Amino acid sequence: MKVIRSSKEIKTNKFSKPFAFVPTMGNLHQGHLSLVEYAKENYSESIASIFINPLQFGKNEDLSNYPKTLSEDIRLLENSGCDYLFIPEANFAENLEEIKPRFADVLCGVSRPKHFQGVLMIIDKFLRLIKPDACLFGLKDYQQQLIIKDYVKQKQIKTDIISLPIIREKSGLAMSSRNNYLSEEDRKYCGKIFSCLQDLAKSSETSPIDSLKIPTIDYLIRAGFKIDYLEFVDANDLSPITKKTKKLLIAVAVKYKKVRLIDNIVVSLKKSHLNASSG
Ligand code: AMP
Repeated sequence: MKVIRSSKEIKTNKFSKPFAFVPTMGNLHQGHLSLVEYAKENYSESIASIFINPLQFGKNEDLSNYPKTLSEDIRLLENSGCDYLFIPEANFAENLEEIKPRFADVLCGVSRPKHFQGVLMIIDKFLRLIKPDACLFGLKDYQQQLIIKDYVKQKQIKTDIISLPIIREKSGLAMSSRNNYLSEEDRKYCGKIFSCLQDLAKSSETSPIDSLKIPTIDYLIRAGFKIDYLEFVDANDLSPITKKTKKLLIAVAVKYKKVRLIDNIVVSLKKSHLNASSG
């Protein structure tokens, strides 16, 4: 694997087409590596990046102590057969033009108001610099991939945005760099989050969706989670569900022992099971 540390060099490098790009903030786990593996299987060349983007962290968030494990990350990427690793210069996020994303004022955008703007500004820079045929994202960050897909479409950027499945720990907890802040035991316990989503997905096919939210929030609070949100929205545009909603997104963000954890599940609503009271 070739490591490139300069924007100028990545811009002029000749990749063999079609090539896929996997942006990350490092501290890699199997969730990230599944994206690299997809790139390897489906494209001629794969490029990963590691950059802890300061623009996407709020003032009180964990930028300064975000886990940094570069040599282990390089080892994992090499083992997965990744062709290139791009590690941008420290000033990579400076002097970028502000971009206002759509779909950013709901779900995670409520408690993290500038987060998606910061993500989009960096992804835009990456895409213009590297010009990949595809850029790969995990569905764990559902809102993120939706916002980027929308932006790329609006701007007619010629990169396919590919969204790939959530990789989970044995307990069901979605893999995340932030899971490292939790003990082994806590990570097992936090499997409850996904169990709730699975139960909700099942119930949403037979019970009125309006009736499901409060009991689940109560349950999670009693189980020791602090709730940021639990929302049922249209998976296509994150709008409130209506009788026309075909794809339901159930998305959750909680804190467990101060660690912020997000997860989601998408449910195809069959006609007979459309039971939203609104719309
Ligand atoms: P991050 O390093 O957190 O910015 O994540 C980089 C990419 O990996 C994003 O596209 C994430 O959605 C994706 N990702 C993170 N965790 C997972 C996971 N558990 N399963 C699938 N993709 C993931």
